[in-house]
Amino acid sequence: MEFYTRNENSATCLLCRHYCKIKPDHTGICGVNKNIGDKIECLVYGRPAAINVDPVEKKPLYHFLPGTKTFSLGTVGCNFKCPFCQNWQISQSHDINMQRFVSPKEVVESALFHECDSIAYTYNEPTIFYPYAKDIAVLGQKRGLKSIFVTNGFESIEVIDDMQGVIDALNVDLKSFNRDYYKKVLKGGLHAILNNLVAMKERNLWLEITTLIVPEQNDSKKELAQIAKFIADNLGSETPWHISAFHPDYKQQDLPPTSIKALEKAQKIGYDAGLRHIYLGNIGKENPTQCTKCGKKLIKRSGFGVEKNFLEKGRCPKCGTPLAGVFT
Ligand code: SF4
Repeated sequence: MEFYTRNENSATCLLCRHYCKIKPDHTGICGVNKNIGDKIECLVYGRPAAINVDPVEKKPLYHFLPGTKTFSLGTVGCNFKCPFCQNWQISQSHDINMQRFVSPKEVVESALFHECDSIAYTYNEPTIFYPYAKDIAVLGQKRGLKSIFVTNGFESIEVIDDMQGVIDALNVDLKSFNRDYYKKVLKGGLHAILNNLVAMKERNLWLEITTLIVPEQNDSKKELAQIAKFIADNLGSETPWHISAFHPDYKQQDLPPTSIKALEKAQKIGYDAGLRHIYLGNIGKENPTQCTKCGKKLIKRSGFGVEKNFLEKGRCPKCGTPLAGVFT
Protein backbone atom coordinates (compact mmCIF):
# COMPACT_ATOMS: atom_id res chain seq x y z
CA MET A 1 0.00 0.00 0.00
CA GLU A 2 0.94 3.66 -0.35
CA PHE A 3 1.28 4.93 3.19
CA TYR A 4 0.88 8.58 2.21
CA THR A 5 -0.78 10.76 -0.46
CA ARG A 6 0.37 14.13 -1.71
CA ASN A 7 -1.82 17.25 -1.79
CA GLU A 8 -1.05 20.71 -3.11
CA ASN A 9 0.60 22.12 0.02
CA SER A 10 0.63 19.12 2.29
CA ALA A 11 0.66 15.34 2.42
CA THR A 12 -1.91 13.06 4.04
CA CYS A 13 -0.83 10.20 6.25
CA LEU A 14 -2.88 7.06 5.64
CA LEU A 15 -1.67 5.06 8.64
CA CYS A 16 -4.47 5.77 11.08
CA ARG A 17 -7.96 7.17 11.27
CA HIS A 18 -6.71 10.64 12.10
CA TYR A 19 -5.63 10.92 8.43
CA CYS A 20 -3.42 13.88 9.36
CA LYS A 21 -2.85 16.44 6.63
CA ILE A 22 0.73 17.44 7.31
CA LYS A 23 2.43 20.58 6.06
CA PRO A 24 6.13 20.49 5.07
CA ASP A 25 8.47 20.18 8.08
CA HIS A 26 5.59 19.29 10.42
CA THR A 27 4.61 16.02 12.06
CA GLY A 28 1.15 14.53 12.53
CA ILE A 29 -0.66 13.98 15.84
CA CYS A 30 1.56 11.02 16.76
CA GLY A 31 4.67 13.19 16.43
CA VAL A 32 6.64 10.58 14.52
CA ASN A 33 5.40 10.80 10.93
CA LYS A 34 6.82 13.91 9.30
CA ASN A 35 6.37 15.70 6.00
CA ILE A 36 9.88 16.02 4.61
CA GLY A 37 10.16 17.40 1.09
CA ASP A 38 6.47 16.72 0.38
CA LYS A 39 6.83 13.09 1.35
CA ILE A 40 5.92 11.71 4.77
CA GLU A 41 8.64 9.80 6.52
CA CYS A 42 8.14 7.48 9.46
CA LEU A 43 10.83 8.84 11.78
CA VAL A 44 10.79 5.79 14.06
CA TYR A 45 11.52 3.31 11.26
CA GLY A 46 14.34 1.16 12.63
CA ARG A 47 14.34 3.01 15.96
CA PRO A 48 12.74 0.80 18.61
CA ALA A 49 12.55 2.29 22.10
CA ALA A 50 11.80 -0.99 23.87
CA ILE A 51 12.60 -4.62 23.02
CA ASN A 52 11.81 -7.67 25.15
CA VAL A 53 11.17 -11.36 24.85
CA ASP A 54 7.74 -12.01 26.42
CA PRO A 55 5.38 -14.91 26.82
CA VAL A 56 2.63 -14.44 24.22
CA GLU A 57 0.17 -14.55 27.16
CA LYS A 58 1.58 -11.19 28.30
CA LYS A 59 0.28 -9.35 25.19
CA PRO A 60 -2.34 -10.69 26.21
CA LEU A 61 -3.15 -13.43 23.68
CA TYR A 62 -4.51 -16.63 25.23
CA HIS A 63 -5.76 -18.44 22.13
CA PHE A 64 -2.78 -17.82 19.86
CA LEU A 65 0.18 -20.21 20.03
CA PRO A 66 -0.19 -20.67 23.81
CA GLY A 67 3.00 -21.21 25.77
CA THR A 68 5.28 -19.65 23.13
CA LYS A 69 7.60 -16.66 23.29
CA THR A 70 7.09 -13.48 21.28
CA PHE A 71 9.79 -10.98 20.37
CA SER A 72 8.21 -7.69 21.41
CA LEU A 73 9.13 -4.21 20.29
CA GLY A 74 7.75 -0.70 20.31
CA THR A 75 8.89 2.80 19.45
CA VAL A 76 8.12 6.24 20.86
CA GLY A 77 4.91 8.07 19.91
CA CYS A 78 1.19 7.39 19.94
CA ASN A 79 -1.94 8.61 18.18
CA PHE A 80 -3.96 8.61 21.47
CA LYS A 81 -3.47 10.50 24.73
CA CYS A 82 -4.84 8.09 27.36
CA PRO A 83 -4.29 9.62 30.82
CA PHE A 84 -3.82 6.16 32.39
CA CYS A 85 -1.23 4.89 29.89
CA GLN A 86 1.09 2.35 31.49
CA ASN A 87 3.80 2.92 28.88
CA TRP A 88 3.57 6.71 28.80
CA GLN A 89 7.34 7.14 29.12
CA ILE A 90 7.68 5.97 25.53
CA SER A 91 4.20 6.39 24.07
CA GLN A 92 3.95 10.06 24.96
CA SER A 93 7.56 10.83 24.10
CA HIS A 94 8.84 12.08 20.75
CA ASP A 95 12.44 11.63 21.74
CA ILE A 96 13.69 9.22 19.08
CA ASN A 97 16.86 7.31 19.85
CA MET A 98 19.01 7.92 16.77
CA GLN A 99 22.05 6.13 18.22
CA ARG A 100 21.27 2.78 16.69
CA PHE A 101 19.35 1.61 13.63
CA VAL A 102 17.76 -1.83 14.05
CA SER A 103 16.93 -3.21 10.61
CA PRO A 104 13.98 -5.56 10.01
CA LYS A 105 16.52 -8.29 9.28
CA GLU A 106 18.17 -7.78 12.66
CA VAL A 107 14.80 -7.97 14.41
CA VAL A 108 13.97 -11.24 12.68
CA GLU A 109 17.40 -12.72 13.42
CA SER A 110 17.09 -11.73 17.10
CA ALA A 111 13.60 -13.25 17.33
CA LEU A 112 14.91 -16.53 15.91
CA PHE A 113 17.95 -16.43 18.18
CA HIS A 114 15.64 -16.15 21.20
CA GLU A 115 13.50 -19.05 19.90
CA CYS A 116 10.38 -16.95 19.53
CA ASP A 117 7.47 -18.10 17.41
CA SER A 118 6.25 -14.60 16.68
CA ILE A 119 7.08 -10.91 16.71
CA ALA A 120 4.77 -8.52 18.57
CA TYR A 121 4.43 -4.83 17.76
CA THR A 122 3.44 -3.47 21.12
CA TYR A 123 4.18 -1.07 24.03
CA ASN A 124 3.15 2.00 22.03
CA GLU A 125 0.63 2.12 19.15
CA PRO A 126 2.12 0.09 16.29
CA THR A 127 -0.10 1.61 13.59
CA ILE A 128 2.06 4.71 13.67
CA PHE A 129 5.10 2.63 12.69
CA TYR A 130 3.30 0.24 10.35
CA PRO A 131 5.88 0.71 7.51
CA TYR A 132 8.57 -0.70 9.85
CA ALA A 133 6.29 -3.39 11.33
CA LYS A 134 5.25 -4.55 7.88
CA ASP A 135 8.82 -4.91 6.61
CA ILE A 136 9.68 -6.97 9.72
CA ALA A 137 6.52 -9.08 9.40
CA VAL A 138 7.08 -9.89 5.73
CA LEU A 139 10.67 -10.90 6.37
CA GLY A 140 9.69 -12.83 9.50
CA GLN A 141 7.03 -14.74 7.64
CA LYS A 142 9.67 -16.12 5.30
CA ARG A 143 11.46 -17.51 8.36
CA GLY A 144 8.31 -18.98 9.93
CA LEU A 145 7.56 -16.16 12.37
CA LYS A 146 4.01 -14.93 12.94
CA SER A 147 3.21 -11.27 13.65
CA ILE A 148 1.06 -9.76 16.38
CA PHE A 149 -0.40 -6.25 16.70
CA VAL A 150 -1.25 -4.95 20.17
CA THR A 151 -3.29 -1.94 19.24
CA ASN A 152 -5.89 0.65 20.16
CA GLY A 153 -7.81 -0.31 17.00
CA PHE A 154 -7.61 3.11 15.33
CA GLU A 155 -5.93 1.88 12.15
CA SER A 156 -6.92 3.33 8.81
CA ILE A 157 -9.00 0.98 6.71
CA GLU A 158 -6.09 0.97 4.23
CA VAL A 159 -3.79 -0.50 6.89
CA ILE A 160 -6.38 -3.11 7.91
CA ASP A 161 -6.67 -4.18 4.28
CA ASP A 162 -2.91 -4.34 4.03
CA MET A 163 -2.64 -6.49 7.16
CA GLN A 164 -4.15 -9.48 5.37
CA GLY A 165 -1.44 -12.05 4.87
CA VAL A 166 1.01 -9.88 6.88
CA ILE A 167 -0.33 -9.70 10.45
CA ASP A 168 -1.68 -12.88 12.03
CA ALA A 169 -3.25 -11.83 15.31
CA LEU A 170 -4.33 -8.69 17.12
CA ASN A 171 -5.15 -7.78 20.66
CA VAL A 172 -7.32 -4.69 20.39
CA ASP A 173 -8.16 -2.40 23.29
CA LEU A 174 -11.83 -1.54 23.49
CA LYS A 175 -11.41 1.02 26.22
CA SER A 176 -14.94 2.32 26.57
CA PHE A 177 -18.33 2.44 24.89
CA ASN A 178 -18.70 6.18 25.44
CA ARG A 179 -18.16 8.33 22.36
CA ASP A 180 -17.40 11.51 24.30
CA TYR A 181 -14.88 9.78 26.54
CA TYR A 182 -13.03 8.36 23.52
CA LYS A 183 -13.00 11.73 21.81
CA LYS A 184 -12.36 14.15 24.65
CA VAL A 185 -10.21 12.11 27.03
CA LEU A 186 -8.46 9.48 24.92
CA LYS A 187 -8.37 11.59 21.72
CA GLY A 188 -9.56 8.71 19.57
CA GLY A 189 -12.93 7.66 18.17
CA LEU A 190 -15.31 4.90 19.26
CA HIS A 191 -17.21 4.60 16.00
CA ALA A 192 -14.05 4.07 13.94
CA ILE A 193 -12.79 1.42 16.35
CA LEU A 194 -16.04 -0.53 16.30
CA ASN A 195 -16.03 -0.46 12.49
CA ASN A 196 -12.39 -1.52 12.47
CA LEU A 197 -13.05 -4.49 14.75
CA VAL A 198 -15.72 -5.75 12.37
CA ALA A 199 -13.38 -5.16 9.41
CA MET A 200 -10.60 -7.14 11.13
CA LYS A 201 -12.97 -9.99 11.87
CA GLU A 202 -14.21 -10.02 8.26
CA ARG A 203 -10.62 -10.32 7.10
CA ASN A 204 -10.10 -13.38 9.29
CA LEU A 205 -7.42 -11.82 11.49
CA TRP A 206 -7.33 -13.57 14.89
CA LEU A 207 -8.76 -11.14 17.44
CA GLU A 208 -8.71 -10.88 21.21
CA ILE A 209 -10.11 -7.87 23.01
CA THR A 210 -8.84 -6.09 26.12
CA THR A 211 -10.74 -3.67 28.33
CA LEU A 212 -8.90 -1.96 31.17
CA ILE A 213 -11.54 -1.42 33.83
CA VAL A 214 -11.00 2.10 35.17
CA PRO A 215 -13.08 2.95 38.26
CA GLU A 216 -15.71 5.64 37.62
CA GLN A 217 -14.68 5.93 33.95
CA ASN A 218 -15.94 2.80 32.20
CA ASP A 219 -17.09 0.43 34.95
CA SER A 220 -20.84 1.02 34.96
CA LYS A 221 -22.99 -2.05 34.44
CA LYS A 222 -24.55 -0.45 31.38
CA GLU A 223 -21.27 0.35 29.66
CA LEU A 224 -19.66 -3.03 30.36
CA ALA A 225 -22.79 -4.77 29.07
CA GLN A 226 -22.61 -2.68 25.88
CA ILE A 227 -18.97 -3.65 25.33
CA ALA A 228 -19.62 -7.33 25.99
CA LYS A 229 -22.71 -7.40 23.79
CA PHE A 230 -20.86 -5.70 20.95
CA ILE A 231 -18.12 -8.33 21.10
CA ALA A 232 -20.54 -11.25 21.31
CA ASP A 233 -22.84 -9.99 18.55
CA ASN A 234 -20.23 -8.71 16.10
CA LEU A 235 -17.02 -10.63 16.73
CA GLY A 236 -18.43 -13.89 18.03
CA SER A 237 -19.13 -15.33 21.46
CA GLU A 238 -15.83 -17.25 21.41
CA THR A 239 -13.74 -14.07 21.08
CA PRO A 240 -11.56 -13.90 24.20
CA TRP A 241 -12.26 -10.82 26.34
CA HIS A 242 -9.46 -9.77 28.69
CA ILE A 243 -10.68 -7.50 31.44
CA SER A 244 -7.78 -6.07 33.32
CA ALA A 245 -7.24 -4.08 36.47
CA PHE A 246 -6.25 -0.42 36.37
CA HIS A 247 -3.43 0.87 38.58
CA PRO A 248 -2.89 4.61 39.06
CA ASP A 249 -0.33 5.77 36.49
CA TYR A 250 0.74 8.79 34.42
CA LYS A 251 -1.95 11.51 34.68
CA GLN A 252 -4.58 9.28 36.26
CA GLN A 253 -3.36 9.22 39.85
CA ASP A 254 -6.67 10.29 41.38
CA LEU A 255 -8.53 6.99 41.06
CA PRO A 256 -8.17 3.80 43.16
CA PRO A 257 -6.92 0.55 41.62
CA THR A 258 -9.64 -1.73 40.25
CA SER A 259 -10.83 -4.23 42.86
CA ILE A 260 -11.05 -7.96 42.19
CA LYS A 261 -14.76 -7.66 42.97
CA ALA A 262 -15.21 -5.12 40.16
CA LEU A 263 -13.43 -7.43 37.72
CA GLU A 264 -15.57 -10.37 38.77
CA LYS A 265 -18.66 -8.24 38.30
CA ALA A 266 -17.50 -7.37 34.78
CA GLN A 267 -16.83 -11.04 34.11
CA LYS A 268 -20.39 -11.95 35.06
CA ILE A 269 -21.73 -9.20 32.79
CA GLY A 270 -19.67 -10.68 29.97
CA TYR A 271 -20.96 -14.20 30.56
CA ASP A 272 -24.53 -12.86 30.68
CA ALA A 273 -23.93 -11.23 27.28
CA GLY A 274 -22.95 -14.63 25.87
CA LEU A 275 -19.14 -14.44 25.87
CA ARG A 276 -17.47 -17.80 26.50
CA HIS A 277 -13.85 -16.91 27.28
CA ILE A 278 -13.30 -14.09 29.75
CA TYR A 279 -9.96 -13.61 31.46
CA LEU A 280 -9.06 -11.36 34.39
CA GLY A 281 -5.73 -9.56 34.01
CA ASN A 282 -3.24 -7.68 36.21
CA ILE A 283 -4.33 -9.43 39.41
CA GLY A 284 -2.26 -12.63 39.27
CA LYS A 285 -5.30 -14.87 38.97
CA GLU A 286 -5.18 -18.32 37.40
CA ASN A 287 -7.01 -18.03 34.09
CA PRO A 288 -7.72 -21.46 32.64
CA THR A 289 -9.40 -22.01 29.28
CA GLN A 290 -12.26 -24.47 29.33
CA CYS A 291 -14.04 -26.39 26.61
CA THR A 292 -17.23 -24.54 25.68
CA LYS A 293 -19.07 -27.84 25.28
CA CYS A 294 -18.02 -30.22 28.05
CA GLY A 295 -16.22 -27.82 30.42
CA LYS A 296 -12.90 -29.71 30.45
CA LYS A 297 -9.89 -27.59 31.33
CA LEU A 298 -7.99 -27.17 28.05
CA ILE A 299 -5.18 -24.81 29.04
CA LYS A 300 -3.93 -24.43 32.60
CA ARG A 301 -2.04 -21.20 33.29
CA SER A 302 -0.19 -19.64 36.16
CA GLY A 303 0.95 -16.04 35.93
CA PHE A 304 1.91 -15.48 32.31
CA GLY A 305 2.98 -19.07 31.82
CA VAL A 306 1.17 -22.10 30.48
CA GLU A 307 1.38 -24.93 33.01
CA LYS A 308 -0.31 -27.53 30.87
CA ASN A 309 -1.85 -27.48 27.41
CA PHE A 310 -4.30 -30.37 27.00
CA LEU A 311 -5.41 -29.43 23.47
CA GLU A 312 -5.05 -32.05 20.78
CA LYS A 313 -4.68 -30.35 17.40
CA GLY A 314 -6.66 -27.40 18.73
CA ARG A 315 -9.49 -29.62 20.03
CA CYS A 316 -10.77 -30.75 23.38
CA PRO A 317 -9.22 -34.17 24.12
CA LYS A 318 -12.44 -35.32 25.80
CA CYS A 319 -15.26 -34.34 23.42
CA GLY A 320 -13.37 -33.21 20.31
CA THR A 321 -14.86 -29.70 20.21
CA PRO A 322 -12.49 -27.26 18.49
CA LEU A 323 -11.32 -24.25 20.49
CA ALA A 324 -11.41 -20.92 18.65
CA GLY A 325 -7.88 -19.68 18.05
CA VAL A 326 -4.56 -20.46 16.34
CA PHE A 327 -2.78 -23.48 17.78
CA THR A 328 -0.45 -24.97 15.19
S1 SF4 B 1 -0.06 7.77 12.11
FE1 SF4 B 1 -2.05 8.73 12.50
S2 SF4 B 1 -1.57 10.35 13.96
FE2 SF4 B 1 0.37 9.79 13.02
S3 SF4 B 1 0.61 11.18 11.30
FE3 SF4 B 1 -0.36 9.32 10.53
S4 SF4 B 1 -2.54 9.76 10.57
FE4 SF4 B 1 -1.54 11.28 11.93
